[in-house]
Amino acid sequence: ERDLVSPEADLDERAVEGALRPKSLDEFVGQERVREQLSLVLRSAQRRGKAPDHILMSGGPGLGKTTLAMIIAAELGSSLRITSGPAIERSGDLAAVLSTLHEGEVLFLDEIHRMARPAEEMLYVAMEDFRVDVVVGKGPGATAIPLDIAPFTLVGATTRAGMLPAPLRDRFGFVAHMDFYRPDELELILRRSAGLLGADLAPDAAVEIAGRSRGTPRIANRLLRRVRDYAEVRGDGRLTLETARAALSLYEVDDEGLDRLDRAVLTALLRRFRGGPVGLSTLAVSVGEEPETVEVVAEPFLVRSGFIARTPRGRVATAEAWAHMGLTPPPDAAF
Ligand code: ADP
Repeated sequence: ERDLVSPEADLDERAVEGALRPKSLDEFVGQERVREQLSLVLRSAQRRGKAPDHILMSGGPGLGKTTLAMIIAAELGSSLRITSGPAIERSGDLAAVLSTLHEGEVLFLDEIHRMARPAEEMLYVAMEDFRVDVVVGKGPGATAIPLDIAPFTLVGATTRAGMLPAPLRDRFGFVAHMDFYRPDELELILRRSAGLLGADLAPDAAVEIAGRSRGTPRIANRLLRRVRDYAEVRGDGRLTLETARAALSLYEVDDEGLDRLDRAVLTALLRRFRGGPVGLSTLAVSVGEEPETVEVVAEPFLVRSGFIARTPRGRVATAEAWAHMGLTPPPDAAF
C-alpha cells in the first residue's frame, strides 16, 4: 500500500487529522526557530494593532504548514480562509476570494506556486495595496475597476520557495522554512497523538514508529493509527514494541521508513544496474512505474536518506544502499 508513507493526505485523512492538530504555538512540536520567529511577528503586529506581514511557509507536505496557518489565525483571534493554487485557475477565482475577506482575516493559500499566472499579478496588488482590479468587459472596451479589499494576512505555502517568482516571494515579510522533524520530536508528536486517540503507546514503540516516519508528522500519525488498529485486532490493544514491529512489517514499512516501492527502486538499481549510474526513466520502467512516480514519490526520500545520489550521468546507489539492502557492491561500483 503506497499511501502509507506518502506525505500527502486525501480528504478522508484530512478529516481524521483535524483531531490531532495542535491549537497553539506552544502545543506545536519542534520547528523551534520558526515558532520563535512567528511568535515575534505575531506579537509585534498585535502590539501595533495591525495585520501582520504576509507569511510564506516553505517545506514538504505533512510538515505542519496548514496547522501553523490555523494557529496563526487563532493566535490573532481571527478566522482562517483556506484555498489552494490549483483551485485558482483564473484571476476571477482569486478575486472572488479576496473580495469576500473580512478585516484581519488570514488567507491560507496552499501550493501557491501552482496558481494560474494571471492571478499572480492580481495577488501582488492585493498583498501590497489591499486592492483588486476587476476587469469588466472584453477586448478594447474592457476596463479595470479598482476595488478596495479588507486588510488581511496572506499565509502562502509552497514545497519549494525557490519555485516562486521573485516578485511574489519579495512581497512576503517573513519566510518560514519548515524542516523535517528529528526522531525525538516525532516521538513527542506520537505521544501527544496517542494521548488524544486514547491509545496506550509504550515509549519504545514510540521510538520505533518515529524512526520509520520519514521525518514527517503526517506519516508518524498515520503509522500510529495503523499500529493502533493492529493492536486492537490482533493484540490486547496496547501499542508495544512488538506490536509496532509486527504491524509495520505487515504494512511493509521497513526500519528506515522505506516501503515496497522504495525498496523495489533500490533493488532494481542495485541488482539490474549494478548500482548505476542509470537514467531515471530506465529505472522507472524496470520497476513498472511512471518516471514521475519514481521521481516525485520515491526518489526524494531515497536521496535525502542518503541511499541514492543524483549525478550528471544518472542515479547512483550509495554504499548505505548496498548495506541497507544486505547486498555486496561489485568492486567497480560507482559510488
Ligand atoms: P501540511 O499542511 O504541511 O501538509 P499539516 O499541517 O496538514 O501539514 O499536518 C499534517 C498532520 O501532522 C496534522 O495531523 C498535524 O496535526 C500533524 N502535525 C504537523 N506538524 C505538527 C507539529 N509540529 N506538532 C504536532 N503535530 C503536527
